[in-house]
Amino acid sequence: MNGTADLVKSIETLTSFLPNNPLGTPLESNWRYMTATYTEWEIATYGSIFVHEVIYFMFCLPSFLFQFIPSMKRFKIQQDKPEERQWGCVKLLLFSHFCIQAPMILGTYYFTQVFGIKYDYDSIPRWYVLAAQVIGCAIIEDTWHYFLHRLLHHKRLYKHVHKVHHSYTAPFGLVAEYAHPIETVVLGMGFFIGIVTFCNHMVMMWVWVAVRLLETIDVHTGYDIPWLNPMHLIPGYAGSRAHDFHHQNFVGNYSSTFVYWDKLFGTDKQYKDYYAQLKNKQQ
Ligand SMILES: [Zn+2]
Ligand SMILES: [Zn+2]
Repeated sequence: MNGTADLVKSIETLTSFLPNNPLGTPLESNWRYMTATYTEWEIATYGSIFVHEVIYFMFCLPSFLFQFIPSMKRFKIQQDKPEERQWGCVKLLLFSHFCIQAPMILGTYYFTQVFGIKYDYDSIPRWYVLAAQVIGCAIIEDTWHYFLHRLLHHKRLYKHVHKVHHSYTAPFGLVAEYAHPIETVVLGMGFFIGIVTFCNHMVMMWVWVAVRLLETIDVHTGYDIPWLNPMHLIPGYAGSRAHDFHHQNFVGNYSSTFVYWDKLFGTDKQYKDYYAQLKNKQQ
């Protein structure tokens, strides 16, 4: 116990120059204004829909613009495959966001009431607690995603559900949530297990939404630019090349975020062989 208390104290001393919580003082007044002006139902419902929509399209924007910037082409993974059927993707995406995901978000308020999730500024967890909670959520989601995604590739299931997501063999950011409604619900459950396990504040829920969107949009961008995404600082982060290969090859690399499960079960073999061959050809 003493060891944990000492560790927490050391982290607090080392980071004493930072504001008391991860939002910092510039955003404090806005958060206090929001909680004073809107009801918890409005924050949980409209706030969560707003956070999801703004972050989704904001994170998709850079890689959407890259297709118009010739100098970015050298970062494109499948060089010979331009982005195509983008409008079709947006249409199904908007249907999914407002007809499948928004009704699910309607349950957020009731979840926060049952589990005692806090909304007030003073209860916002310290930044390192938030970071640990989000990493915990990512590990749980990655595990869920690996096994359920692999199951969705079973020949009896694939053509009924997961085929929709795989209609793009050279993905781009918006493809991240382009999926059959059943897939949205089934794979989406991995996102909620982490929340049920770790969430104690609305901020934590929204930070996890942002991190999960950053991850899933990054791996679908079709561009490999590690320095643009801080997720690459996390050991074992798979990155865009791994999932891009999954769309190109249909087999292997079933994890969403990390490399561990694919390594353990050898489902990254075709991916490794492909890049080993490519390297040999270039030499
Ligand atoms: Zn797949
Ligand atoms: Zn995908």
